[in-house]
Amino acid sequence: MYSVVVPVLNEQQVIEETHRRLVNVMKQTNENYEIIYVNDGSTDKTSKILRRLQKTDKNIKILEFSRNFGHQIAISAGVDHAKGDAVVIIDADLQDPPEVILKMIEKWKSGFDVVYGKRVKRKGESVFKKATAALYYRILRKLTDVDMPVDAGDFRLMDKKVCRHIKNMREKHRYMRGIVNWVGFSHTAVEYIREKRFAGVPKYNLRRMIRFANDGITSFSHKPLRFSLYLGAAFELASAIAAVAAALGYRPLWLVVLCIAAFTNGIVLIMLGIMGEYIGRIYEECKNRPLYILADKVGFETDEEN
Ligand code: UDP
Ligand code: MG
Repeated sequence: MYSVVVPVLNEQQVIEETHRRLVNVMKQTNENYEIIYVNDGSTDKTSKILRRLQKTDKNIKILEFSRNFGHQIAISAGVDHAKGDAVVIIDADLQDPPEVILKMIEKWKSGFDVVYGKRVKRKGESVFKKATAALYYRILRKLTDVDMPVDAGDFRLMDKKVCRHIKNMREKHRYMRGIVNWVGFSHTAVEYIREKRFAGVPKYNLRRMIRFANDGITSFSHKPLRFSLYLGAAFELASAIAAVAAALGYRPLWLVVLCIAAFTNGIVLIMLGIMGEYIGRIYEECKNRPLYILADKVGFETDEEN
């Protein structure tokens, strides 16, 4: 049996087409499947449409969040409830072509536990998004100790045993692609062309993208904390040089002093900010709140509590 997990936030314009394409693909497997839509607090007609689809298609299951908890948490909820021997995560906007799932299944059957989609080309995304994404994945790879594949998103297939371990990782700031890599097991990629969004608007704005990027780095690396050590050492050296220059009669002395003072203050504040990022996350983990709250579950056999 396969589980397909689809996080959805205000996707009324695409969700029916997405479902049609998914069903078309899943039927070709000639095996059982479930499609779990995780409605991440949509305020449009998404929920209505999903419920209508579910009435005529019992392979559909719906998890309704009580509010918007975010893409990564929506994925996690889907994985929590998935019953399949292999679980596929796919976006609702058809940027990840459902047809690629068949290739992923093929690789899974040949023995790989995680098959991730590697974007060889990204269509319909701004130069800015492509450039920042490319840069980010490379920085992340340098900073973290887990071997994260470059240019891979959340579009992937995971074996049941990988999911079992992921379910045990309840960290709040979730960076799923990092978590999947951390868990390990055998990985392979299928290459695909990331399409243009079928309809609707992207839900990640710049602010959310920065927050997401931040989560990726801080969840898997504490190297940024170490920067202060190196920077501190570098500025000790710089101030020593400035002191020597001043002693040798270099003028204007005030300019030398001012530059160094301003610069070092800036660095101190930046480092405090980086520490703040980590402390804030420690605080959130300490509170130990549930990852998400379900308002409703549709199509699941047992009504076990969340
Ligand atoms: N999404 C979600 N919750 C959010 C933001 C997005 O469930 O808070 C869903 C969205 O409906 C889509 C997927 O996550 O299915 C990816 O979002 P989007 O296409 O906006 O992101 P991008 O393609 O820009 O990475
Ligand atoms: Mg998208």
